[in-house]
Amino acid sequence: MAHMRPREKTITLQSNALVTLLLLLLSFILGIGGPESGAGLPGPGDYDKAPASGDNLRWDPNSLRGKIIVIDPGHGGANPGTRGVGPQPEKDNVLTVGWDLKSMLEYAGAKVIMTRDGDYSPGGPQADQLEARVRIANSTGAHAFVSIHNDWNKNSALTGTTTYFFSPDGHRLGSSLQRGVTGELRTKDLGVRWANYYVLKNTAMPAALVELGFLSNKQEARLLSTRSYQTKAATGIYHGLVEYFSNI
Ligand SMILES: [Zn+2]
Repeated sequence: MAHMRPREKTITLQSNALVTLLLLLLSFILGIGGPESGAGLPGPGDYDKAPASGDNLRWDPNSLRGKIIVIDPGHGGANPGTRGVGPQPEKDNVLTVGWDLKSMLEYAGAKVIMTRDGDYSPGGPQADQLEARVRIANSTGAHAFVSIHNDWNKNSALTGTTTYFFSPDGHRLGSSLQRGVTGELRTKDLGVRWANYYVLKNTAMPAALVELGFLSNKQEARLLSTRSYQTKAATGIYHGLVEYFSNI
């Protein structure tokens, strides 16, 4: 499926409706088929409604009303992130999770800002992409910042989810995200860890960075590239955010 950015929407209303229908049909087929691999990046037409996947979705259209949340899909453009042993690089896997998460959060009433919504480097190819992510986040007055990544380790047997934080507020957010993601993906809980990462240290709101799983592990790399697993990952982050905001 061709990747479309919202900013590239140049098609007519009529064909847009047709494309939306085709995308919904395709996502339906992919959603019930399996095994899947490399389903490609979604377009904006995929996200008119909350995704109808996940076994234990608790949709409440008001649970995040008034909240502003920044989603930060790692890497992008010339920076693929981790390539690993799976069919897709990190930058593609995490962008799709970000799009899914955006849809869920908006359905729950939140306002969402993405630091990138396509395959490009935030701030442009010449900019410091980490600085650009922070600048975007800090210009929004957001209540939470969630960075989404895939991990790598030289030990290819290693699997599991790790969430990083810098500030005490980030620790509370990160703990909720870690619970949400490991609960949904059934991944090994590798813990909530302090890290001096630029995007965690310099963002003005509670911030956490989720490493969903390892692209250095064959099984996890395959899963991380499948459409259904990406939606489950987004669902886990969504549950984590709902838990976080219900406790502050
Ligand atoms: Zn990364």
